[in-house]
Amino acid sequence: MLTSDTTDVEACVDEISRLDDVDCEIIRLTVPNQKSVDSLPLIREGMQKRGIERPLVADIHFNPQLAINVCEHVEKVRINPGNYVDRKKFEIREYSHGQYQEELERVEEKLLPLIENLKKYRCALRIGTNHGSLSDRVMNRFGDTPEGMVESALEYLRILRKHGFEQTVLSMKSSNPLVMIQAYRLLVDAMDSEEMYYPLHLGVTEAGNDLDGRVKSAVGIGTLLCDGLGDTIRVSLTEAAENEIPVAQSILQATRSRIYHADFISCPSCGRTFFDLENTTEQIKVRTSHLKGVKIAVMGCIVNGPGEMADADFGYVGAGPGKISLYHGQFCVERNIPAENAVERLIALIQQQGKWVDPAN
Ligand code: SF4
Repeated sequence: MLTSDTTDVEACVDEISRLDDVDCEIIRLTVPNQKSVDSLPLIREGMQKRGIERPLVADIHFNPQLAINVCEHVEKVRINPGNYVDRKKFEIREYSHGQYQEELERVEEKLLPLIENLKKYRCALRIGTNHGSLSDRVMNRFGDTPEGMVESALEYLRILRKHGFEQTVLSMKSSNPLVMIQAYRLLVDAMDSEEMYYPLHLGVTEAGNDLDGRVKSAVGIGTLLCDGLGDTIRVSLTEAAENEIPVAQSILQATRSRIYHADFISCPSCGRTFFDLENTTEQIKVRTSHLKGVKIAVMGCIVNGPGEMADADFGYVGAGPGKISLYHGQFCVERNIPAENAVERLIALIQQQGKWVDPAN
């Protein structure tokens, strides 16, 4: 998601360009006012001039009219069901069935013109539920819970379906990975029970920065991807937007959802290690990480190395002080190479086996 002011067209196009360079596939922008809506065609024009083709998503809070107006300019609109129609008053009151229904009718009435424009401009919609901004209606009935998050999304989803709009994706974000994991799982169960099957956008919102932000994102998003859930993801860091993309790609690679580069297995090293494992692993990564789909193991010793790297395509294993053995699959193909030549010999082995491609640059 862009951090630039949407009305600053040049800054947005520059930021989109940086995101495009690191292969960000979907660009989201905040659209807090009509001036931002009016900037979108100019941003698109700037992208076209730079040869950038990426779908744009408009992020809307509090203002149904902006969501309606923005449909013609973007591929997807994201609304927050907690604040699209409702204003938080933090009122503590019991809703009778009738009062609850009345509120839902109000939501439906407000959604109708949006549905019309979404259909007209063939625009998708994300119902982006946030743990921290549930409506008073939902809070009073379900509390600040994953169940409340699910109901918040389903209220909107049922209305969209009733009016024949199907291009919907859902998200259940929280800054707490445990809450978001539970909410997405509950949502899938709830949709299953109503025979509704919609794609999911995964994210841990406000995950923070640095190591904590990356680990939280990996735990939340990665767990769900391992469950087989999720269709798009966003890593949300308190850093430059382009920093989010390599983390997202690593999560996708680690969960085998997408393969972006070579896969590396390397042991942590111990007293048996026969060479400078950290530097050598880095050296091998720099030379080979562009080999998409190739799995390379770097192991400190012969004792455990070959067993632990059984599914690697190529292995670089300490054979004795200053000596390296190379493996192709499970077979040792070169023994006791002097360590100073071994990285080059590994590259030569990858080339001989037809797995080498030259790096792009
Ligand atoms: S592979 Fe060998 S060097 Fe590496 S951690 Fe295991 S025992 Fe130690």
